[in-house]
Amino acid sequence: TKWVFNFGDGKADGAADKRNLLGGKGANLAEMSNLGLPVPPGFTITTEVCTWYYDHDNSYPDDLRAQVEAALEHVGSITERRFGDEKAPLLLSVRSGARVSMPGMMDTVLNLGLNDVTVKAIGEEAGDMRFAYDSYRRFIQMYSDVVLGVDHHEFEEILEEHKSLNDLMLDTEITADDWVGIIEKFKALVEKELGTPFPQDPQVQLWGAIGAVFSSWMVPRAKTYRRLHDIPATWGTAVNVQAMVFGNMGETSATGVAFTRNPSTGEKALYGEFLVNAQGEDVVAGIRTPQDITEKARLEAGSTKPSLENLMPECFSEFQAICDRLEAHYRDMQDLEFTIEKGKLWMLQTRAGKRTAKAALKIAVDMAAEGLLTEEEAVLRVEPAALDQLLHPTIDPKAKRDIVATGLPASPGAACGAIVFTSDEAEEAKAAGRKVILVRVETSPEDIHGMHAAEGILTSRGGMTSHAAVVARGMGKPCVSGAGMVRIDYRTGTISAGGRVLNKGDVITVDGATGQVLFGKVDMLQPALSGDFGTLMGWADKVRRMKVRTNAETPADAKVAREFGAEGIGLCRTEHMFFEGERIVAVREMILSETEDGRRAALAKLLPMQRQDFTTLFEIMKGLPVTIRLLDPPLHEFLPHSDSELADVAKAMGVDPDKLRERALSLHEFNPMLGHRGCRLLVSYPEIAEMQARAIFEAAVEAGKVTGDHVVPEIMVPLVGLKGELDLVRASIEKTAEAVQKEAGVELTYQIGTMVELPRAALQGAEIAKSAEFFSFGTNDLTQTTFGISRDDAASFLGTYQSKGLIEQDPFVSLDQDGVGELVKIGAERGRSTRSDIKLGICGEHGGDPASIQFCESIGLDYVSCSPFRVPIARLAAAQSAL
Ligand code: PEP
Ligand code: MG
Repeated sequence: TKWVFNFGDGKADGAADKRNLLGGKGANLAEMSNLGLPVPPGFTITTEVCTWYYDHDNSYPDDLRAQVEAALEHVGSITERRFGDEKAPLLLSVRSGARVSMPGMMDTVLNLGLNDVTVKAIGEEAGDMRFAYDSYRRFIQMYSDVVLGVDHHEFEEILEEHKSLNDLMLDTEITADDWVGIIEKFKALVEKELGTPFPQDPQVQLWGAIGAVFSSWMVPRAKTYRRLHDIPATWGTAVNVQAMVFGNMGETSATGVAFTRNPSTGEKALYGEFLVNAQGEDVVAGIRTPQDITEKARLEAGSTKPSLENLMPECFSEFQAICDRLEAHYRDMQDLEFTIEKGKLWMLQTRAGKRTAKAALKIAVDMAAEGLLTEEEAVLRVEPAALDQLLHPTIDPKAKRDIVATGLPASPGAACGAIVFTSDEAEEAKAAGRKVILVRVETSPEDIHGMHAAEGILTSRGGMTSHAAVVARGMGKPCVSGAGMVRIDYRTGTISAGGRVLNKGDVITVDGATGQVLFGKVDMLQPALSGDFGTLMGWADKVRRMKVRTNAETPADAKVAREFGAEGIGLCRTEHMFFEGERIVAVREMILSETEDGRRAALAKLLPMQRQDFTTLFEIMKGLPVTIRLLDPPLHEFLPHSDSELADVAKAMGVDPDKLRERALSLHEFNPMLGHRGCRLLVSYPEIAEMQARAIFEAAVEAGKVTGDHVVPEIMVPLVGLKGELDLVRASIEKTAEAVQKEAGVELTYQIGTMVELPRAALQGAEIAKSAEFFSFGTNDLTQTTFGISRDDAASFLGTYQSKGLIEQDPFVSLDQDGVGELVKIGAERGRSTRSDIKLGICGEHGGDPASIQFCESIGLDYVSCSPFRVPIARLAAAQSAL
């Protein structure tokens, strides 16, 4: 087996496409060599050796040593040096390199091969003993730290002590003789700590470093990172061994890092930093302030330190040409490392650069315009979830975070304001021009006005599909939900977390992107939608197959969704409309009536309001499809809570409050989410469906007159498990349609369909589809009922499940494809089996989650529906999954 791949001198055994075998770094070093770029020669020990190492009790294949020997000879022949030679010693760097870059693993050992003898040869050759001893002490320090496990700080202490004893301020004031003394102390420290001397034999040093790279693959930090990022342990890491080049050989030497475009704005301009007379770790360590690479960046930053362009113009133009070449070659923005040794440029690394969402968007659109990418490739270059960053204010990455508590990142964006505990207070504050954060244990539909008035929402209970989370996402308001560590005391008007107590009126910031609750007002960046956004979305729409609709019931939400490109409403939750203004009293009247007549009287009050709501929505949607779901209230959200609420309803109904209280008590449920809700209510009280259907049909007629569109409402029946339930409700809708047609003298076109949000509905898809023209998968309830976990209570233990690796993601956020997804698939297939043209969509929160959208594409759903601010994300994700 070939375990070792050479590179350097304009050729290489490997290439960029051997990333799996050579790791990202190794593959790109090979590629750069093949391109004839100046890469210090070296070799890559493959990831297969890593796998072998772990399969064979931490040992190496028999023929590895010979292959490494040969590779060392090869590097020596190019550099005209030999490893361990006393006159012209070859020095090496050793670096890890997995398929994807992975923090947590051993990073780098530089200057390997130095010992008491070779250090002299290096010094004489360079004509600079100070440089040689400085390199040697760096090597001892780095090697001892990452290979031998002697803490870095112990060496720093020796160094500091020497400096203070000798009145030295800077490392640069330290002479060669000083270093010699310090090196002796370093070596003594190692011997004291380990009981054996620091290894002088270069071969021992090399194999020690190689072993350290492989061992670092299994350190806890690396394992955690792999688990979080879904990287299998079997991938292994490669080891890159390379001839040293020195950025610390005096004033004509330097080392630096650069991006071919600005990684935060995407601007097409070389961007980077370097240090004169320094080694790689100095740039990262941040002890000295690095200088700008280009003159333009220096001027913009107002720096007085010369740029590389100015200081070493020839190296700069060579570097710039290489950047252009690499970017064109890889067709992506590159992140580069380089070193200049006595005026000669060397490339140490190239890889695709990390970037902000804003930069990703600009780079993709620019590169397509430059002809580097096709439009379709550009669409694939932007991560849909990252668009969130562009649509909401975000916390300035430079801002200090004083974290009070952490909950779930329920709705993106950041907001700050004074703490209030009730929705009425939030509304009053807003009216008085003050910004507030609404802090509640949990929210209910009665808090809608407070949520509207607040800048952001914080709850201590409830998961990613809890009321607070769903409604906040719909409104585009930042929300942190389920912050279980926060204790909210409404009585004293305080919240406490982690030993800290905050009062009503104290200012906090909620970060819906991370779930953090921060103390005080934190600096933010405002979103700015660039022209690039529209351009990329346009390209995405060209390749997209699935339609994207929105979940919206208020005119404001519907308008926002249209602006973001929604192609209709996929879910209008009518129960959310029942909390506006005075309606709640009529709704309660309806629920608490013991007679049909009483209910009809209450419904008659609601009819005109509902009709107006629907007319407005139809008008905003201008002929696009609108799916209206009949009432689906968990009863507890609608029952009066306080005596005064009860008294209001009693007065409206003209009944005795005490009798009404009894009635309310009798309606109490232990498990409202599985109780008398959805179509069950419509089965018990058919007059509700009748009223809603009438409001919908009359609104369709009215809106049609205004806009001239023929409105085709889609009426959706919630929580169906039996075909019979749907049939009953359908009959009453059809009867109402006939009546309205007669009265209005117009022909109505409409569709009746159902939510599939119970396992039984999915399994009975074939049967139910006989009565349904469309299915909309309600994956919130379907997740709740498939797992048998409450969407309002599961947050308290799902975190533990995630940390123990039982589940990868909160199933209320990203569809559980194996379980819940299987039911969706079954429901879709069975539905189609009896009605081949059945329209299929999804309207649970998963409709805005890129991975779930990919799944919907794979099973051929017709559309996804999501909250307004997720519409752009869904458009892009749907496009990517179609490609
Ligand atoms: C669902 O259950 O997925 C759904 C969309 O309905 P709701 O969240 O209103 O229960
Ligand atoms: Mg539901």
